[in-house]
Amino acid sequence: MSLAEGVVQILEEYADKQGFARVKTVWLEIGRLSNVEVDSMRFCFEAVCRGTLAEGAQLEVIETPGRGYCLDCFQSVEHNARFDPCPLCSGYKVQATEGTEMRVKELEVE
Ligand SMILES: [Zn+2]
Repeated sequence: MSLAEGVVQILEEYADKQGFARVKTVWLEIGRLSNVEVDSMRFCFEAVCRGTLAEGAQLEVIETPGRGYCLDCFQSVEHNARFDPCPLCSGYKVQATEGTEMRVKELEVE
């Protein structure tokens, strides 16, 4: 729930700065390594938006791929689950470098 609340907080901050009153659509980037579950985010988002400037807003989720850096073979590799081994050497020392974040990419407002 708190992650969705964080998104609504971000929307309220933007609204203060940019002077819009309602949010119609939110494009949210969720990295594959961010530990954010897309389904539960959708569900929570709708719930926490009630009574806010984003009530009834549509949530468009863009899943961004993960990448990691393997400390065994020193390569940048595709990495879409935190505890997956390196696809090149099967080692487990892969450090996530991309796809670890969630951010608001774009808004449609009025
Ligand atoms: Zn490797």
